[in-house]
Amino acid sequence: MSSFSVPPPKCLQKPLAVPHRYMFGPGPSNVPSRILMAGINPVIGHMHPEIFEIMNDIKSGIQYMFQTQNNMTLAVSGTGHTAMECAIFNTVEPGDSVLSAVNGIWGERAADMAERIGRALSKYRPVVLFLAHGESSTGVLHPLDGIGQLCHKYGCLLLVDSVASIGGTPLFMDQQGIDILYTGSQKVLNAPPGTAPISFSERACQKVFNRRTKPVSFFLDLSWLANYWGCDGKPSRVYHHTGPVTAFYSLRESLAVLAEEGLEKSCERHEKVAEYFHAGLESMGLKLFVKEKKARLPTVTTIVAPHGYDWKEITTYIMKTHNLEISGGLGPSVGLVLRVGLMGCNSTKDNVDMVLEALKDALKHCHKSKV
Ligand code: PMP
Repeated sequence: MSSFSVPPPKCLQKPLAVPHRYMFGPGPSNVPSRILMAGINPVIGHMHPEIFEIMNDIKSGIQYMFQTQNNMTLAVSGTGHTAMECAIFNTVEPGDSVLSAVNGIWGERAADMAERIGRALSKYRPVVLFLAHGESSTGVLHPLDGIGQLCHKYGCLLLVDSVASIGGTPLFMDQQGIDILYTGSQKVLNAPPGTAPISFSERACQKVFNRRTKPVSFFLDLSWLANYWGCDGKPSRVYHHTGPVTAFYSLRESLAVLAEEGLEKSCERHEKVAEYFHAGLESMGLKLFVKEKKARLPTVTTIVAPHGYDWKEITTYIMKTHNLEISGGLGPSVGLVLRVGLMGCNSTKDNVDMVLEALKDALKHCHKSKV
């Protein structure tokens, strides 16, 4: 006879406790109460007409944020990685080659995802070129003008990761000839993590819907997602997966906040605040990791790890003493940089002053080696 032998855990008898914290790392960023409150609306069915209406609003909001008219625009249920895999799994078939521009960890990860499909490595005729517009690991903003046209000349799709950049710096999906663009909800949008906007151009759809093989993932199969998001022109939507409805509410609200401020104003604000921050860092004697001003991301700043200090001690001190998250490097930048993200509502001069104070304090109190 089977019986219930695992007792209820003691830890669950204590109430949930989550501290308030300044989220000034590379993400997630703070979620303002307006967006948080949207998420406490009642759960209704993921196939109810009111949810389809909310999904349609989200689609319009993403088209605005991405500056695109693409009909194939939706939000995948999952984080930035889910959108990344959605883009790659749907466009790449075994035998196809992919070119990944590596300017930090995200280019490396895109190459890893493409390799899992089992393509034959070939440096010729890639079907997709992957580029991270905002490389959050190195703080590099990659220019995009002209690349789409070049890709199309060679029959290649341009896939751009804008998880850490869009909304904080200008990006024009249609005008810049981007074929697949995705982002996450938890950075400039200030929504909780868990939904990831993505859009496919007509050219990308041609490739996706003329595949010889099924995509390796059922969950991320664009034919199914297109139907769930009402992008395939079919009269009815069928069940694919249970959409995270409360996450949709928050995402819709975050897109409404962005639309209210306007993209242009949001980008200007991020750029001004970043300049103010960068000047403040330099006046403290700290060095920016990205030397060329034009190549600096206005959303995530990388600071050369201060000489003689242990970067981990600095981030830990700031978290403990100032209740504020900043982080160290990621992938190729580990040990080389400190990273500060000021995104969406967090991008203000007051927050810059707070970070500068915390850094000054940390440099005063953390151990400095004599060498
Ligand atoms: N791309 C970039 C540029 C990112 O900064 C991140 C998140 N740090 C991701 C992709 C992955 O997003 P997620 O953590 O939401 O899966």
